[in-house]
Amino acid sequence: MLLNLTILPGDGIGPEVTEQAVLVLQAIADAFGHQLQLQSKNIGGAALAAANDPLPADTIQACIASSAVLLGAVGSPAFDHYPNHLRPEAGLLRLRRELGAYANLRPAICFPALEDCSPLRADLVRGTDIMIVRELLGGLYFGEPRSIAGAPGSRVATNTMTYGEPAIERIARVAFDLAMKRRQKVLSVDKANVLECSRLWREVVTRCAKDYPSVQLSHMYVDSAAMSLVQRPKDFDVVLTENMFGDILSDQAGGVVGSLGLLASASIGGPVGVYEPVHGSAPDIAGKGIANPLGAVLSAALLLRHSFELEPEATCIESAVSAVLNQGYRTADLARAGQSPLSTSEMGRCVVAELKASSSSVAIA
Ligand code: NAD
Repeated sequence: MLLNLTILPGDGIGPEVTEQAVLVLQAIADAFGHQLQLQSKNIGGAALAAANDPLPADTIQACIASSAVLLGAVGSPAFDHYPNHLRPEAGLLRLRRELGAYANLRPAICFPALEDCSPLRADLVRGTDIMIVRELLGGLYFGEPRSIAGAPGSRVATNTMTYGEPAIERIARVAFDLAMKRRQKVLSVDKANVLECSRLWREVVTRCAKDYPSVQLSHMYVDSAAMSLVQRPKDFDVVLTENMFGDILSDQAGGVVGSLGLLASASIGGPVGVYEPVHGSAPDIAGKGIANPLGAVLSAALLLRHSFELEPEATCIESAVSAVLNQGYRTADLARAGQSPLSTSEMGRCVVAELKASSSSVAIA
């Protein structure tokens, strides 16, 4: 199969982790007889520096012309004082919107080898396997009007949360379809005791559930869900929620399973999916070669699964990551006292070596 991808390394540790994910994709393509066709484009701060636009036209054109997008991260303190539309993050929001990527899937899995990396007791976190389904094109991040207006000292800031029934229904169906392939549980998270958006959300999700009689639907307020996520994470299966609640809960889930550096995401629903680690550009460690590339590598696995339906290849990457962690290899964010941490590229090489060793038998079979 031709794997025609646009690579958007972005800022900070984005290029460092993306490079490793690409090496892993190359190894899997070699092992399974696929052809990898890559083109790299700028986004975020890198694009602002080069073209004064966080999402230049040639970047979006390349993305639309490809079958999937692998992204690193965007964001840099150098642009913190820029107006909203000229910040690196604006490029990412526009990319998601232009590609119609309304469904953000964020798995949070506790790898057995990393039980001791969680701030929670091992018996609480063991077996955690959560799929957060976050609505990505609505809510406060896109709602209009939005502004900061008025004279200094008496300015007023406004953001708007809006959700229509079609937007709620389409993301709910993604969650129910995923639940059918998992443990058949959907927890819908909202704030229906306070917000009109959440009351409509709850009503529409409940209506959709009637088409999935084998799926057990429950509802929880976001504050209560945040508490339960640390009290009993393994009870969660599919978590369905709106844009901002999903942003927050998925980072929390990352903390529960050990490190933000491990978390992958898929943004799908439109013609071209975007795959990226959940973490940001991590300016505090950028350029040091110590970032954990596994979130990016696991995002490459999601890319193969959701954009190309290459399930054996995706599983092969996930198993290689698990095997490498079982062998005790750790980047600095995961290393405990007495463990010498690997660099970003060393961790990438370990995954590639494991992949080559394990995939030869799978591909031949
Ligand atoms: P961050 O995710 O970049 O970093 C948070 C903490 O986690 C930092 O201490 C960082 O060193 C650590 N960390 C993150 N990824 C890691 C990895 N792969 N390996 C090891 N440690 C890792 O979040 P932040 O500091 O809040 O934001 C930094 C910049 O990134 C900001 O400009 C923000 O807007 C941007 N951001 C971008 C995205 C994205 O591109 N999707 C997401 C979140 C934040």
